[in-house]
Amino acid sequence: MIHSLLQLLFPSPCVSCGYLGKPLCDRCFKGLEYKPHVRVIHDMKVYCSMFYEPDSILEHLIHPFKYKHQAGIFRCFVPRMRDSLKLFSFPEDCILVPVPLHTKRRHERGYNQAELLAKWIAKQSGADYAPVLRRTRYTDSQALSESKAARIENLSGAFRMTQALKHGQVLLVDDIVTTGSTLLACADALRVGGVKNVSALALANRELQTKTYSRH
Ligand SMILES: [Zn+2]
Repeated sequence: MIHSLLQLLFPSPCVSCGYLGKPLCDRCFKGLEYKPHVRVIHDMKVYCSMFYEPDSILEHLIHPFKYKHQAGIFRCFVPRMRDSLKLFSFPEDCILVPVPLHTKRRHERGYNQAELLAKWIAKQSGADYAPVLRRTRYTDSQALSESKAARIENLSGAFRMTQALKHGQVLLVDDIVTTGSTLLACADALRVGGVKNVSALALANRELQTKTYSRH
C-alpha cells in the first residue's frame, strides 16, 4: 500500500519510453515479447520466458534492474514468470536455488536479482526455496569476458554448496542466460554436493535466435 501511495505521489518514468506513471507503462509492457522455450546447454534444460534482444524493451528494463538499484522493476517480470510456471510442468518437489552473486557484488548492488525471482516463484508455486550456493571467487564481470571458453575457465570452481539438500531435484534460477557457463558451473557445484538432477529457469535467453527451440 505504501508502495502504491508513493507511486501516486512520485510517479516513476517508464524505463522504456519515459512516460510518467509506472516503471514500465502498459503500452511498453504489452510490447514485451513473451516466447517461452527450452534451451539445452550440454545436458541441462533451461526454461526461458523470453529472448533478450539488443535495444528491446527487455534490455531497457534489465539494465536498471541489474545495475541501477531499481529492484522494483522486478514486478514487471512477475506476470511472465507466472505464465512460465503454468506452461512448463516442473517436478512438484523441485527445490529452487538462485544463482548467487559474490558477496562483494551483492553488497554493491544491494540485492541479487536471481534471489528475488526465485523467492517469488517459490511463493507462487509452493516449491522450496534454498539459497545453498555460494560464489567463492570474485570473477571479472561476465559482460566483459570475451569468449565462451574464457567464461568457462573464469567460472570453473567459482561456486560451492553451503549445505546439503533433502533430495536431488534442483531448479536453478537466474535472470538472463547468455553462454550458460554460470549455470553450468552452478550445476557442477550442486552435483559435487550430491544433487542428481539439475535444470534451470531463466527470465530471458540472450543467445541469438539462430536455433530452433522447442516449447517444451
Ligand atoms: Zn513505456
